[in-house]
Parts: sequence; structure tokens; C-alpha cells
Amino acid sequence: MKSQEVRNQFLEFFESKKHSIVASAPMVIKDDPTLMFTNAGMNQFKEFFLGNGIPKNNRLTDTQKCLRVSGKHNDLEEVGMDTYHHTMFEMLGNWSFGDYFKKEAIQWAWELLTDVYSIDKDILYVSVFEGAKDENLEMDQEAYDLWKDIVPEDRIIMGNKKDNFWEMGDQGPCGPCSEIHVDIRSAEDKAKVSGRDLVNADHPQVVEIWNLVFMQYNRKANGSLEKLPSQHVDTGMGFERLCMVLQGVKSNYDTDVFTPLIREIETITNSTYDKDSLPTDEEGKVSVAIRVIADHVRAVSFSIADGQLPSNNGAGYVIRRILRRAIRYGFTFLNTKEPFIYKLVETLSKQMRDAFPELKTQKNLIVNVIKEEEQSFLRTLDQGLVLLDNVIRETKGKIISGEKAFELYDTFGFPIDLTALILSEQGYELDEKGFKAELQKQKDRSRAASQVSAGDWEVLLEGTEEEFIGYDHLTTEVKLTRYRKV
Ligand code: ATP
Ligand code: MG
Ligand code: MG
Ligand code: MG
Repeated sequence: MKSQEVRNQFLEFFESKKHSIVASAPMVIKDDPTLMFTNAGMNQFKEFFLGNGIPKNNRLTDTQKCLRVSGKHNDLEEVGMDTYHHTMFEMLGNWSFGDYFKKEAIQWAWELLTDVYSIDKDILYVSVFEGAKDENLEMDQEAYDLWKDIVPEDRIIMGNKKDNFWEMGDQGPCGPCSEIHVDIRSAEDKAKVSGRDLVNADHPQVVEIWNLVFMQYNRKANGSLEKLPSQHVDTGMGFERLCMVLQGVKSNYDTDVFTPLIREIETITNSTYDKDSLPTDEEGKVSVAIRVIADHVRAVSFSIADGQLPSNNGAGYVIRRILRRAIRYGFTFLNTKEPFIYKLVETLSKQMRDAFPELKTQKNLIVNVIKEEEQSFLRTLDQGLVLLDNVIRETKGKIISGEKAFELYDTFGFPIDLTALILSEQGYELDEKGFKAELQKQKDRSRAASQVSAGDWEVLLEGTEEEFIGYDHLTTEVKLTRYRKV
């Protein structure tokens, strides 16, 4: 089944259950201080859950453009490394605002998956909230009993607060949830395990596809939970993951959502995508890079289409960093020294324009903005490499001083994590402490200057006032660090 049809069937199914189809909200949020990007389908309905507004229908359904690169839901470090976390993805959802609750939500989810999409019942698992003593929350017995009538009990898993109590962010509507997981391991792999290991949520091929959230609480700024005036249903299903299951492939990147982009990257960069390679292997890095680029071009294009251009602060800064991350992966692993990511927009637009016409109407803007960003960042990378070579040649011993690295970073805008990576590849080490000391000295010198515009990658080591997206090393061996607002 083609992805377009998968999406339509979802919406039509819920329409048949008296839901109104609504449009996706923009991915970039302008008016909510607690959230920079839409990270779930429910964001645009937050006020309805809180009782501050009334929807046009108390049953709605849609596909929502989401971006998970900051705050509570940040998947950036997984992207490219695994096969089912994206920065930008579509979340299919159905909502009840004070209308139906657990019974219908569970029954309809099961009906859609097993009757309409004909997914084999035997590969589905479900999870139920086990309760949390620290917050006086009880186990979700009601959901358990409803599932018990549909699914064999050994395929109902109890989940803790981390997995089965969904929260939008540090504040906002929340509640216990029931997730549906699908086991796409081969029969051979499954035969190797038994008992509870059959339900191994950490296995890359036991993938969560749908989350049914039973909204009952609001997390307040002081951390306490208050009961919402009514009970609601908020579900979210990963569209690309659903396509993976329905198209009988083992990776989201092997669905028709991604393959046109991947083929295009292969052609332009003269590289080969190996879907079976491991991200940790040397030869797997090319495929990681291809996945990263195919993913990030979507995130950046959809943001620009929504009016959020790359810039040096706020949401624009996050978008710029995502694009630069893609450029660096290309530069380092696909040997791309000329702009090329902008060329993928044509393919993306063709494929998504029916569902998201903004990718058609804004195509030229997207192409131009990406191309310009690529040109300017590639220049930086190019100059930086020559300079770094000189530094290495002049250095006696195996440690590059913080002062030299700082000069590259400060004067030429060369990303410090790239410096560290190149050094380690050539058997050198960066004096990180020395680098930080130099950074501090510079800050002391120019307190008045804007921290963000002082250096694009300052955020990597210091954190800034910006909401932050994650320290993205190019290698998996290096510890990945995340910074939060300071
Ligand atoms: P996971 O545990 O896999 O990270 P999640 O529990 O964080 O997923 P939810 O917040 O429950 O995800 O979101 C609802 C659904 O959205 C998930 O069941 C999944 O299918 C999909 N989803 C979540 N994060 C991503 C992502 N980064 N890329 C693609 N799909 C995603
Ligand atoms: Mg997650
Ligand atoms: Mg989960
Ligand atoms: Mg979940």
C-alpha cells in the first residue's frame, strides 16, 4: 500500500467514526512559551484539553507535522543511527474532547490496524500504565481489562511512568497511555528468544507504532498534577512507522516516504545506500549519512515552508543547525564539497505536495534558502580544513592546544566538534579544557556582544540562552551530550 493511501485510509476510518478531518498545525509554534516546535498531534488542541476553548467537533482527526529536536522530546541523536526515529515526522491522530474514552479508543485502534490495514494480530503487543507511587497514580486497570478482551494476556506489557504516562512537556495536559508495538523480527530471530524476551521493547525491530493517551491531568508549573475538568482521548501514530509495517519492510527508510529521496542522494553523490549496514561499522557511516540527509531535508523544508527560515536565534537557529548537521554528514562521509541538498527539494515536493501543498507553493523559497546556507557553510568548512591541516603540521606531539582550536572556531567559525573529530581521526587530541578556558576568556572580554551571534557553535560547549538541540558528533563512539537552557 502506497503511503498516500495509508494516510488517507487513516483519516477516512476516523471520519467514518464521526470525526472531522482537520489540517495539520504549523510545525513551528509562535505563541507558546513552553514549546518551540510541534512535538505531537495534541499540541494544537492543548487549550481544548485544558477547558479553555471548544472545538468545532468533539471528535477530530488529522496528520500532524511534528519535529522532535528540542525539549522533552528530542530524538536528534537517534536520527540516522536507528531506522525509525526522525526529526520531522507525521503523527496520525484521533481525538475525543470530553466525548468517547478508553473503550472506543482501544476498540477502534485495534479495528483499524487489524481489519482495515490487515496487520497480523500475532505481531502486535500492547502496553498499559502500571501506576506510579510517587505521584499517587494507580495502575490503569480499565485499559488492561479492555485489552484483555482483545489481546492474549501474555502480549499485554505493564509500562512505567517513562513509557506509559505521556506528557507534552514540563507543563501541560498529560495522562496514562497504552501503546501498541509491532514485532517485525524474522521468525528466525524470534526463535532465538523466549518468554518475556519475546516482548523486548529495546529490540530495534519491536517498534512502537501507536500511542493512545487518556488525558486526565494537567501538569502545573510547580510540577504537581491537577485533574482536568473532563476526560479526553489523544492518540498519535507514527505515519512512517505504519508505512514500514504495511509495506513489509524493516526500516522507515525503505518505505516510499524515503526511497525517492535516498535514490536521489545516491545519484547525486555517487554513493550507495546499504540498508543492512550497521551504523557502528566503518562502511555503515555512508548509510547513516544518507539517512541523516534524507531526514533533515524534510525537517528543514517543512520549517521553511511554515515560514521559519534558518537564522542565528530561536527556532531559526535550531533549523540552521539541523541543516548544517546534514551538510557536515555529506561533507565528511559522502565527500560532497558542493551544495546538493537543495536539489532534493524537487523530489520531496513532488512526493508530499498532495498532502502538504505548502511544499509546492513554497518550493522556490525552500530551494534558494537551502542552497545559500549550503554555500556559506561549505566555504567555512573548506577554509577550516586547510587551516586545521596547518595547525596539525605545526604541532609537536599529539595534543592540539585549546588556543589554536579556539582561533579556528572564533575567527573562522569552524565547528569545534568537527575539529575534535578530525583530530581524533588523525590520531591527535584536542585540549578541550584549554578550549573552554579560551571561550570563557572571550566571553569575559565581550560580555555585551550577543552570545549566539559570536559563534555559531558556541552552544555545543557552553549552552546558550537558546532552546537547544543536542551535541551531534559524527561518530557513535564519542559520548553525546545534551545541553539545556541556562
Ligand atoms: P519512541 O518510544 O519510539 O521514542 P515515543 O513514545 O516517544 O516513541 P510518542 O510520544 O508516544 O512517541 O508519539 C506517538 C507516536 O509517534 C509513536 O508511537 C511513534 O509511532 C511516533 N513517533 C514518536 N517519535 C517519533 C520519531 N522521532 N520519528 C518517527 N515517529 C515517531
Ligand atoms: Mg521517544
Ligand atoms: Mg515510547
Ligand atoms: Mg509513546
